[in-house]
Amino acid sequence: MGIRIVPADAWIDPSRAVARALVTHGHADHARGGHEHTIATPATLAIMAVRYGVADGAVPASYREPVALAGGVTATFLPAGHVLGSAQILLEYAGERVIVTGDYKRSPDPTCLPFAVTPCDLFITEATFGLPVFRHPPIADEIARLLAARAANPERCVLVGAYALGKAQRVIAELRAAGWHAPIYLHGAMETMCRLYEAQGVPLGDLRQAAGVPKADLAGAIVICPPSALNDRWSRRLPDPLTAMASGWMRVRQRARQRGVELPLVISDHADWDELTRTIAEVNPAETWITHGREEALLRWCELSQRRARALALTGYEDEDD
Ligand SMILES: [Zn+2]
Ligand SMILES: [Zn+2]
Repeated sequence: MGIRIVPADAWIDPSRAVARALVTHGHADHARGGHEHTIATPATLAIMAVRYGVADGAVPASYREPVALAGGVTATFLPAGHVLGSAQILLEYAGERVIVTGDYKRSPDPTCLPFAVTPCDLFITEATFGLPVFRHPPIADEIARLLAARAANPERCVLVGAYALGKAQRVIAELRAAGWHAPIYLHGAMETMCRLYEAQGVPLGDLRQAAGVPKADLAGAIVICPPSALNDRWSRRLPDPLTAMASGWMRVRQRARQRGVELPLVISDHADWDELTRTIAEVNPAETWITHGREEALLRWCELSQRRARALALTGYEDEDD
């Protein structure tokens, strides 16, 4: 149900309500409501306030500012490069340094601070895409494919399925960086989080609700919706939508086919195989614990490169954010 910090009587990303929770980031499988005290970055607390109405017992922890916990444990939140506000948590206790990464990636993302490589004794890393087959292409290539598909189909709209926290804003920011300055239309479920990002200093340009816009006016437009809305009734109001989906799992053709996705975009907010192995090499800890995904291949890689490692079986993490 999370990682327990025994001397401090606290938990990291617990799946049940506890007295003291340290939360790495706002995705639903890590951040839950109902804790007595929630220690997290100000942006993560803002996201949790929107999602759960958490306000009482919120303890902001700014990046790189140590927080004293009970039992002589110090916790420092460091950027993880995953989504806005996401953090690795550095724990210091009795001269030992432990880092719990939460979810992270190494590729650049205009919507959040980059992952900070930080020395430690024990590195507890996620491994969502911990297989050599998972190599995410540069996001600029995927955005270029999206724009090319749009240009080739002027009578249709491109409907992009993207998770509401992180992926949607990253796709929008990358579209802007690629020179797409026209209005981007949103499913109603995307609105709140996009506004929150903007309030936190991440500009997203001209965003509009798709609801109420005449069908003909959406020809040639880009519309962003939650993955669940890609093929539901909602999308029928759009002009012959060309369905796209932004996810690391789009690397697996069968997954794209299952969802009826015409244009799979391999865009992930998790480290791919190369990023995972590079990160372990750069952090160079005395020991690595692997969790939250496919542990076996990474464990084997550690063994082959003479690194102490073990798999940590944590349950309850089902990503909304791949
Ligand atoms: Zn996440
Ligand atoms: Zn996760």
